[in-house]
Amino acid sequence: MNNAKYIFVTGGVASSLGKGVISSSIGRLLQERGYRITIQKFDPYINVDPGMLNPNEHGECYVTIDGYECDLDLGHYERFTDIKTTNRNSYTTGRIYQDVINNERRGEYGGKTVQVVPHITDEIKRNILKIGESGDVEFVITEIGGTVGDIEGLPFLESVRQLKWELGKRAICVHLAYVPYIAAAGELKTKPTQHSVKQLQGYGIQPDLLVLRSEHQLSESLKHKVANFCNVRPACVFHSPDVPSIYEVPIRMQEQGLDSAILELCGEPVRQTPSMDGWRKYISLRNNLESELHIGFIGKYNLQDAYKSITEGLSIAGVYHGCKVHCHFIDCEQISSENVAEKLIGMDGYLICPGFGNRGIEGKIAAAQYCREHNLPTFGICLGMQVMAIEFARNVLGLKDANSMEFAPQTSHPVIDLMENQKSVSVLGGTMRLGGYKCALIQGSKAQEIYADTSVVERHRHRYELNNDYLQQYESTGMMRSGYNPETNLTEIIEIPTHRWYLGTQFHPEYTSTVMHPNPLFLDFIRACSLKD
Ligand code: GLN
Repeated sequence: MNNAKYIFVTGGVASSLGKGVISSSIGRLLQERGYRITIQKFDPYINVDPGMLNPNEHGECYVTIDGYECDLDLGHYERFTDIKTTNRNSYTTGRIYQDVINNERRGEYGGKTVQVVPHITDEIKRNILKIGESGDVEFVITEIGGTVGDIEGLPFLESVRQLKWELGKRAICVHLAYVPYIAAAGELKTKPTQHSVKQLQGYGIQPDLLVLRSEHQLSESLKHKVANFCNVRPACVFHSPDVPSIYEVPIRMQEQGLDSAILELCGEPVRQTPSMDGWRKYISLRNNLESELHIGFIGKYNLQDAYKSITEGLSIAGVYHGCKVHCHFIDCEQISSENVAEKLIGMDGYLICPGFGNRGIEGKIAAAQYCREHNLPTFGICLGMQVMAIEFARNVLGLKDANSMEFAPQTSHPVIDLMENQKSVSVLGGTMRLGGYKCALIQGSKAQEIYADTSVVERHRHRYELNNDYLQQYESTGMMRSGYNPETNLTEIIEIPTHRWYLGTQFHPEYTSTVMHPNPLFLDFIRACSLKD
């Protein structure tokens, strides 16, 4: 039985208004009222998943616990709400079409002509309904990617229209739009919002609530005007102002009563407003940071969103240590052993970033060597950990041409190698070692002390592994394996115990770091960086 209520979140006027943050904020506010929620996203692009998109173009690829590669908005969902998303929480047009075409090939449409309506829309609806059917959640928040009016968004909006009609009071639509300020006229303009709502109405969807993004304060009369033109109650028009941090958005929304308006529309009792104690405490810490910390990101993707979960994870961990974290991109392609000291100057710690392919690898290796030899706090994530292992093999074990089989298949010392079961893989999409795997922690290691546990589950996204044939050589020369997978014996964490903080993880700790529960490795890395030597 599916009794879940559905909140559809659409966007108009412009992209990048923060639908993901509004969806996450609604989720958090409903949770604070005791409701079980989930958030899913539909993206209109044709890629089956974002796994093969260049991070410089699309930002980070997020990975769910069950190993699904998805949009970075799912990272916001988890950071705001602590829910664990799965492959049911993220769909693209490509995935929907692929499933429909596979059904057609299996003869499941009984000779019918397969069409966008009803076959594609039915598949979209099925996946929206399915996530509510488990009985685990009371609210499903479904974010529709793109902007109302985009050609490729139409099948999703048509599905929303049908579901709103079929589910009645159990489905509402929150529409996010933009109110620009025209400086020359000194006026805020509501026309773009009116037009985007008209367009939505043209598709048969009447929004129930409007969230207006604007850098300026919106007057009550402006809200009334928008309400009047858009067939929405004035009490259902909300303002989402620019805030110093996205984590303030739930508070701003709660102050205006967005959550109670949603409950009222869905026919749920509106009890006392919850205090949001933990969340407010976090915001107050965030607004009173006493020191600053500078972390050098040694990577090759220079886009704000390319390492989104890492920058968010570090900034959140910083808040718990009272410091504002500034992440500085250091282009590894520009680093050489001659200029490394100059390139790395002035940072409190270094993060050697994840990545794929040969480009910039030698720069990362030079940076790892510099950090290791100068006792600088350094965190290697995935490829970053592999780089730490290559550098150590070359310069400590004396294996001069040590490398990863990813970059140098001819190397005589493949310290990073393909896993056996990856050797026959020919399809690139969705075939890496993906998702949550157990990592047993070695007693007495820094990693074990930090996690304060015997084992943890962390998420993966890689094809190559530390070659355990070299393990003994590493361990006898000062690089310790402090975490491993108990089933496969694959190496999960390496560290140099005598170093201030030099640790690399084959997994991605950033995917499990949330506002209320930052990953312990991020917390401890920031602690180490903030200790002045
Ligand atoms: N390219 C490396 C691998 O496939 C590391 C991947 C990553 O950093 N996510 O193993």
